Amino acid sequence: MTTLSQAFEAAYGYAPTGVWSAPGRVNLIGEHTDYNNGYVLPFAIDRRTWAAVGVREDRTIRLRSTFADAEVTASLDDLSLDGMSGWSAYVLGVAWAAADAGADLSAAAGLDILIDSDVPVGAGLSSSAALECAVGVAFNELWGLGLDKLALARIGRVAENKAVGAPTGLLDQAASMLGEADHVVFLDCDTEQAHPVALHLAQENLQILVMNSNVEHEHATGGYGERFASCAKGAQELGVATLREVTADGLADAQARLDDVTYRRVRHVVTENQRVLDTVATLDADGPRAIGDLLNASQVSMRDDFEITVPEIDLACDTAVAHGAIGARMTGGGFGGSSIALVPAERAESIASAVRDALSAAGLREPSIFTVVPSQGARRDS
Ligand code: ADP
Ligand code: MG
Repeated sequence: MTTLSQAFEAAYGYAPTGVWSAPGRVNLIGEHTDYNNGYVLPFAIDRRTWAAVGVREDRTIRLRSTFADAEVTASLDDLSLDGMSGWSAYVLGVAWAAADAGADLSAAAGLDILIDSDVPVGAGLSSSAALECAVGVAFNELWGLGLDKLALARIGRVAENKAVGAPTGLLDQAASMLGEADHVVFLDCDTEQAHPVALHLAQENLQILVMNSNVEHEHATGGYGERFASCAKGAQELGVATLREVTADGLADAQARLDDVTYRRVRHVVTENQRVLDTVATLDADGPRAIGDLLNASQVSMRDDFEITVPEIDLACDTAVAHGAIGARMTGGGFGGSSIALVPAERAESIASAVRDALSAAGLREPSIFTVVPSQGARRDS
């Protein structure tokens, strides 16, 4: 087997200075709460993107990925958003965003970079953040930027927002940067403070199944934007800057003042924020076997109030729970994508086949089902 370092040497003719990596992520709970300045609880997964990097003597950046044929070349003297497109925008965008955040790149050395990954692209596991964070930690070290992981997560997010043009929150990059083995990352999207929360999955003999519906979603248009607009409308009519400020006590008042659809959108966000806080408290007090009701309540809220699930996801979650999952819910922005099920390890296989059978019997698309292990965030590997 060729290692990434060997592949780098074959591509560029010398050995890399080092290899850095960062993982994809799954959100345990807290959906559509990020842009409402609320709470999210993602974890980094055991699928990563690696960047082998060599330092050059000039100011050129050369980029290759095992996912793409062509080499991309850029100059550190000429890093502008205009010139960025395609997959290289995720990498060059990080360099641009670091400079935009105040990093002095005037004497930074050019780099040769080779990317490899086992994070599936476009499956809702954030291969994009994995790429941004892998090169983010490499740049930080090789250019001596001295940034902490949260600062690097923010830079990755700015790259995604400005260089790629995807209006996403900090969730993906925070998970990829700050993840720890067997922990979730609690992120307050208002203060942007984050801390790890222990999961104890192995100790409890539990696993997390990802059930990818293989139903494609498009977040740039359609439902995602409509939900975003409904939340903004609800906040405006309730006289608050963001829905984070509304608590369960304020829901009766909200119901009296909002039309039915807007009220249900607001209720999802308000109750979901509370469920994230309750999940953290429950994990601390009683461990992961006690969070099933919260996961299931989140699924029902996304299905009935926020209306962002699809039949494939609903059936997968219901079937998993009926066959012994502790809890199951859609994860990610919705309208397709994946759901997760928290399952006793010894039942993982039988639950996965029950879900496959149920979807097949209903004439729905066949899912891809696999386990993910909460893993360490961005790091240097060699
Ligand atoms: P995801 O849900 O996987 O994050 P995105 O659409 O946000 O989906 O990001 C996927 C894009 O990120 C790809 O189309 C590609 O441009 C880029 N990307 C991700 N991983 C790699 C990789 N290993 N090599 C090159 N580009 C990658
Ligand atoms: Mg992405």
